[in-house]
Amino acid sequence: MRSHRIAVIPGDGIGQEVIEAGKKVLSALAEKSGDLCFEFVDFDWSSQRYLEKGEYIPAGGLDKLSRFDAIYFGAVGSQDVPDHISLWELRLAICQGFDQYANVRPARVLPGVNSRLKGAESIDWIIVRENSEGEYSGNGGRVHQGFPDEVGTEVSVFTKKGVERIHRFAFQLAQSRPRKQLTLVTKSNAQRYGMVLWDEVFFEVAKDYPDVSIDRELVDAVTTRMVLKPETMDVIVATNLHADILSDLAAALSGSLGIAPTANLNPARTFPSMFEPIHGSAFDIAGKGIANPVGSFWTAVMMLEHLGESTAAERLMAAIERLTASGLQTKDLGGTATTRDVTQAICADIERQ
Ligand code: ATP
Ligand code: MG
Repeated sequence: MRSHRIAVIPGDGIGQEVIEAGKKVLSALAEKSGDLCFEFVDFDWSSQRYLEKGEYIPAGGLDKLSRFDAIYFGAVGSQDVPDHISLWELRLAICQGFDQYANVRPARVLPGVNSRLKGAESIDWIIVRENSEGEYSGNGGRVHQGFPDEVGTEVSVFTKKGVERIHRFAFQLAQSRPRKQLTLVTKSNAQRYGMVLWDEVFFEVAKDYPDVSIDRELVDAVTTRMVLKPETMDVIVATNLHADILSDLAAALSGSLGIAPTANLNPARTFPSMFEPIHGSAFDIAGKGIANPVGSFWTAVMMLEHLGESTAAERLMAAIERLTASGLQTKDLGGTATTRDVTQAICADIERQ
């Protein structure tokens, strides 16, 4: 029996609903396989906890978390806590504390899902987002706060080491895919320092991967290419901010924000990696039982791959595709199914296979 210890942080809003659904599906998968089991340990690290106790993560919390094989995360964000506090105190504290520097976001139109984009069937991208520095380094300040001459600065920090390791990661990922193609995205015409460093290091690293075909785009231009020529791209590597934006675009183009997964990887495996759907806590639909749980199922597939459970990962992905193809869809995809309907259907499918 192969056993994996999973730390579960449902967080806020629909994060709680979709992670609950994901756990059910993972349990169904384990039961079916017979030689696989998950030990889930729940952590109540959420905005509600912050409002009650003044902290998202208790003292020693990260240390405790570091002993798990993976982290399954829902969403963080509340109308009662400023977003820059909730994000930094919980999600970024984990990503940065565990050096999860590679954020990986696949985008693909699943069977039966309607994209509003013509030609969207050819979307098969993986966006690699630098996840530890850049525009989200937390550097900057405000002076003369509250006065008319107030100034706010936000300093992007790019280290050669940080840039090189994300490029190497992206090249290796591109190398493992059939098309072996990697697009570098920066804004080095207008930003003369960090972005130029990104470009230079990219072309240096490229020499070690001669079998990967490469090209380069400015971030503004790549948005039009994603919409007009989606078939021309495979793996995309970009900074923290740029890839954040591009991956929301990619998710919308491939159907719905409710479907897309992401992995925050610590490639050296010195700390656990964290897996989460890309959507947020979605206050507008929280508590109604209508959130699309497919993003959290696909997230579970990425977690299984990371845990070395490739057979279970393939099984779950196939079940997700049969589910979307069946037309049973939540409201965001134009259907009327509830989170529970979708979860029950996929669990039943897994049991049948
Ligand atoms: P964050 O700041 O945490 O990224 P956000 O404000 O960008 O959050 P989301 O919470 O991701 O936004 O929601 C954006 C929109 O997408 C909302 O209208 C929400 O209802 C919808 N949405 C997001 N996730 C889902 C889902 N799983 N199922 C259905 N609709 C979703
Ligand atoms: Mg968002």
